[in-house]
Amino acid sequence: MIRSIRDIDVKGKRVLTRVDFNVPQDEAGVIIDDTRITESLPTIRTILDGGGIPILMSHLGRPKGTRKVKYSLRPVAAHLAGQLPNVPVHFADDCIGPIAHTVIEEARPGSIVVLENLRFYAEEEANNAAFCRQLAVLGDVYCNDAFGTAHRAHASTAGIAHLFAERCAGILLMKELDYLGSALANPKHPFVAIIGGSKISGKIDVIRSLMASCETILIGGGMMFTFLKAQGMDVGDSLVEPDKIELAGQLLEEAEARNVRLLIPDDTVVATAFNNDAQRKTVHVSDIRSGWMGLDIGPKTIKTFDDVIRSAGTVLWNGPMGVFEMPNFAAGTKAIADSMAAATAGGAVTIVGGGDSAAAIAEFGHKHHVTHVSTGGGASLEFLEGRVLPGVAALDIP
Ligand code: AMP
Repeated sequence: MIRSIRDIDVKGKRVLTRVDFNVPQDEAGVIIDDTRITESLPTIRTILDGGGIPILMSHLGRPKGTRKVKYSLRPVAAHLAGQLPNVPVHFADDCIGPIAHTVIEEARPGSIVVLENLRFYAEEEANNAAFCRQLAVLGDVYCNDAFGTAHRAHASTAGIAHLFAERCAGILLMKELDYLGSALANPKHPFVAIIGGSKISGKIDVIRSLMASCETILIGGGMMFTFLKAQGMDVGDSLVEPDKIELAGQLLEEAEARNVRLLIPDDTVVATAFNNDAQRKTVHVSDIRSGWMGLDIGPKTIKTFDDVIRSAGTVLWNGPMGVFEMPNFAAGTKAIADSMAAATAGGAVTIVGGGDSAAAIAEFGHKHHVTHVSTGGGASLEFLEGRVLPGVAALDIP
């Protein structure tokens, strides 16, 4: 059983909370997107309202076990303070040891402590037992609200959990488990999945596992060309994973055997180079010539996909339809974002897996027009593959 922070009496307790403050920053260290900070506020407020002290810990970037100013969480703590007027936010220059202890001892209920970057210690990712104990003494209750790292068995996400009798999930983590879990376990049918992105290799297991519950799977992005190749087509200079062609063929056969519609695009926007300004045209997928590469789905495919999405009960989207970072090849991905918004307005449950699709839905202005945008790219994929996430399993209380 996994308890929610809402069910724990935190009065007067130090709640050691793993958040995901791994925010994108520019060269000067300015936070470009503070979504991850705002997403953690409901849990922080719940602890404060309950009379507890949130002791927040996170990683930021990849400092690889060394202390680097560039990866300090100090600016993040300052940003958090700006979002919570009248709440004192104390920053501890170290995530363990005397510095952390001193700052925590001085903190009173109603205030927050932010610990320095966990990954200044290589022991964090190594899930080192001594490091787990050093962290665990800093709190009375353990709360995990970092869905984005729940697929990693690190010290702060998994290793320390069993050292607490009182351990729980934060509100964001609970929400992710609720939406992704019920989409898989109890979807409103027809259940449609849209899978894109560059390569088929990272998405095989998710496609397989979705076949168990989806009526239709729409394929886009670079991976479509490996499927087309498996159907015997010539795809010119498009991205192909030669060692996955056979597997793509097997997935097509499996889909047919299981009565799942696996739709591969009919048309594609091809270009002479992997460049926004390259010469481009729309062709049928059987007409991709050498010297041309497919960088987006075409208008006919967009229409087909839109019809399928609008008539769905549940839609799950993971991975862009084309090279959406280049404006000339973003139309397919934007169209999917629009279709998702339209489906939501029509009553469908719509879920966007994290990573690039979450960035795309935000970029095209539909972040608030879908049911749920997951905060975890890798974590949401692993969850949808049906795998047990170590960070979630560790919270379980028998
Ligand atoms: P992934 O990390 O596998 O989800 O892939 C995301 C990346 O796939 C994005 O950066 C897209 O630019 C890229 N992508 C999408 N469609 C294509 C394509 N047709 N050819 C090459 N890359 C693509």
